[in-house]
Amino acid sequence: MEIKSLNSHPLDSKADLLAITVYGDPSKDALVKAVDEALDGRLSAQISAESFKAKLGQSCVVYPGDAYGASAIAFIGGGAKRGDEANTRNIGAYAYKVARRLKAKTLALVLPTTTTKNTDIDGQMVAEGVVLGSYKFSKYQTKDGAGDQPVETVEIHSDRTVGKKKKKGAASKTLKGAIERGAVIGAATCHARDMVNEPAEFLNPAQVATIARGIAKKHKSVSVKVLNEKDCEKLGMGMFLGVGRGSDRESFLIHMTYKPAKKAKKVQTFIGKGVTFDSGGYSLKPSASMVEMKIDMAGCAAVVSSMDAIATLGSPNEVHIITACCENLVSGNAYLLGDVLVAMDGTTVEITNTDAEGRLTLGDAITYAQEKTSPDELFDFATLTGACMVALGGFTAGVFSNNEALAKSWLKSSDTTGEDMWRMPLNTKLKSQLNSSIADMKNSGERWGGAITAGLFLEHFVKDTAWVHVDLAGPAYVKAEKGSTMRGGTGFAVATIVEHATKK
Ligand SMILES: [Zn+2]
Repeated sequence: MEIKSLNSHPLDSKADLLAITVYGDPSKDALVKAVDEALDGRLSAQISAESFKAKLGQSCVVYPGDAYGASAIAFIGGGAKRGDEANTRNIGAYAYKVARRLKAKTLALVLPTTTTKNTDIDGQMVAEGVVLGSYKFSKYQTKDGAGDQPVETVEIHSDRTVGKKKKKGAASKTLKGAIERGAVIGAATCHARDMVNEPAEFLNPAQVATIARGIAKKHKSVSVKVLNEKDCEKLGMGMFLGVGRGSDRESFLIHMTYKPAKKAKKVQTFIGKGVTFDSGGYSLKPSASMVEMKIDMAGCAAVVSSMDAIATLGSPNEVHIITACCENLVSGNAYLLGDVLVAMDGTTVEITNTDAEGRLTLGDAITYAQEKTSPDELFDFATLTGACMVALGGFTAGVFSNNEALAKSWLKSSDTTGEDMWRMPLNTKLKSQLNSSIADMKNSGERWGGAITAGLFLEHFVKDTAWVHVDLAGPAYVKAEKGSTMRGGTGFAVATIVEHATKK
């Protein structure tokens, strides 16, 4: 799919479908009025017949005949008021879905004017939304997709004037760049969705290494190192290896590095939890909770996929992506309740719950990251706790940090991308829940404050590096399609990681 930005008037477009966003009362919209006039009132009659009120995601399609070059015109509901970044992204997705329904090969889209007051951001978001709206994971459905005809070309028109016609030409350079940026971020997010949606049988630790190598091959600026179990043993990663011990598949720690052409401004390291299947181990999950546990590598999918976009867009920073990949299974060799594992930093950990495995893999990854990459900024992304979903619901990630400045700048990045994130406390009063009578710590606390004790466990391994932990157990996966988010893996956090790593 090619996405172009144009400065010509949208009503002059010869696309199969022209999509125009409307906010609030459609009868007050200048483009609605103009089209209605040209169609002798046919549009307003249809709007009232279909009760089109411009609610978010609603659409009203008219066929203008000879009045316009476009074969069909869709008015897309943008909601009662002009919206924010996420709203604009959803509009891009809704427009794409109408185009798919009408089997349009070319889609012209009028750039929505939003509350961001920044045309470039609007362009980025709408382009990202179009790409996300085109996402489908149907490779295992033998009958689905027959007759599907993807949109080939998308034109984004930035001119919304009515009456006076501007000169044809290319859109501003910065808008063009922003639209390209949106398309790149959208593609990386779709890649992360694919990784999450792929069954664990195929998306296993070795496969993640193959994907990382593929991204490194694509970009001169990216290199990759894959550590096998022997390598990790030499480094003393007893927690990570303990978790993977129950699986017949080998565990791998994957480390990708992006180096900018000029001297790096700072070093940023992004870790993703990569448990490619989580049965819970001997603290076995009930079947209903286990059925979706191929998604327990959504953090890994987000960081690995982000690297492709970071390298494409370029970053002033040295960027590291680290993921410790393994399966948490039950077998004669699996780690047991009551075992004591020795972490890479020497901490001894009593296992009181084998289903609290993510923090064990992350703890060693955090130690590795500090020793091998000396980051100025350290991040981890993990489908870590159900407790975080209980606290914040299914759309918002919990953000924990030991550093005010970094937490603020991270949340600013998430504001720009419109991904829902909320700061949570690392209340040290809860730390005594992790006291063990036989080791330095235990790996799980009580039920109350479970997202926080998981964060406190990780913080133990962080030492004095500035660090942000993002618990994305809620928004990593959704059961129903909504706007630019499709059923299944969402690719959550890719947009914010790329934004944070590439901002100047
Ligand atoms: Zn688990």
